Amino acid sequence: MKKVMGHILDDRQKQVSVAGTNERTIDCNKASLAGSVSQRACVFCGSRVVLYPIVDALHVIHGPIGCAAYTWDIRGSLSSGPELHRLSFCTDLQERDVIFGGEKKLYASIIELIDKHQPKAAFIYTTCIVGVIGDDVESICRQIEKIKNIPVIPVQAPGFQGSKKDGYKIACESIFKLVGTKNKPYTPAKSINILGDFNLAGELWILLEYYKRMGVHVNATITGDGRVDDICNAHNAALNVVQCSGSMNYLAKMMKDEYNIPSMRVSYFGIEDMSDALYDVARFFKDDDMMEKAREMVKEEFARLLPQLAWYKEKLTGKKAAIYVGGAFKAISLVKALRLIGVQSVIVGSQTGTTEDYELIKQLCDEGTIIVDDSNPVELSHFVKEKQADIFIGGVKERPIAHKIGLGFCDHNHERKEPLAGYEGMLNFAKEIYATAMSPVWRFTKGG
Ligand code: SF4
Repeated sequence: MKKVMGHILDDRQKQVSVAGTNERTIDCNKASLAGSVSQRACVFCGSRVVLYPIVDALHVIHGPIGCAAYTWDIRGSLSSGPELHRLSFCTDLQERDVIFGGEKKLYASIIELIDKHQPKAAFIYTTCIVGVIGDDVESICRQIEKIKNIPVIPVQAPGFQGSKKDGYKIACESIFKLVGTKNKPYTPAKSINILGDFNLAGELWILLEYYKRMGVHVNATITGDGRVDDICNAHNAALNVVQCSGSMNYLAKMMKDEYNIPSMRVSYFGIEDMSDALYDVARFFKDDDMMEKAREMVKEEFARLLPQLAWYKEKLTGKKAAIYVGGAFKAISLVKALRLIGVQSVIVGSQTGTTEDYELIKQLCDEGTIIVDDSNPVELSHFVKEKQADIFIGGVKERPIAHKIGLGFCDHNHERKEPLAGYEGMLNFAKEIYATAMSPVWRFTKGG
């Protein structure tokens, strides 16, 4: 790539590419460069986003109160039943605990919380400071497990030991400790586990309805609206359907190795990928009736949606979008979904994409699209200005970048309150992009 982009640190040049050029494969899947203020979150955060939608479990953070700021309010994962996950518990380690150790405090806290809330399981997260002082969290969990007779699982996730992606892996290992520990009396043969949907704004419930209409039984949802007992029985499903591949592929792999459960990667964003997901599941079960129901459903949804989407396309054609999200699989779906409503993606990046993901993005995008791995605010701000994007699609950490530049922002991550998955989600997405990109307010901020 031409070294015209002076705002990219030398050691990051290989992590940026441009579609339509014959450049080498993008450099990715590695630790963030020191000095580059990565948009990635810490290991603890990665483990927490995956685990805490398990709604009937206790989640206790062993660390300073600052780590516990990451609560349900930041990522509104909804529950159809218990709401224990909405409570954020922390041992609030202080200077005295750092010097003398926090084990006694942790032990007393877990006992008290289990007695009070009667959870089905407890996840105990370690943070940076615990990694430094070396509290024996494993041993405390083992002791309490024996006394209280529920799984008490240490989540060894000191933030400094890697990136959010390492936290995903630790979370998968923690979930895997539950899998296979219980058998429900009956699990239907045509049953799946949904992996990697976190039920933000109730998206999981939309998917459950689609699968129900097709005649597919959903055995466990991991982890959106998740239940400990369902996860314990997850080994009895016929198939793992994995969304957000970055966070849950590892769990699917472990379940394949241990229980021989196959998995497939899907995305529920955009009508093409949503439909492919339903067809792929029907194809897996080799069930003509199921496939027919899926076709009928897709036909119905398309007939309802396409005229409405055509209206948005007419209004939005010519608008340009910048995409920067956690997983590259979502970025791929977003490029397709935006194209459907006439919006061109001019920047596409992710925190955790793989070489294959970026190659696919390169082929999918129009010539000149900037493709970037593990970016930072300086790069993103420059790219957005250079490409004159009209809207930025990202998560909580990208919002201030967009607003400082004076650009419309669409949250496709933690904080969203409208479901964006499935067919309903596609329409909500089009509405949001339209309302944001076309808002007259940006006339006053352009060039800011
Ligand atoms: S980096 Fe360390 S201190 Fe910061 S939130 Fe993560 S675990 Fe806590």
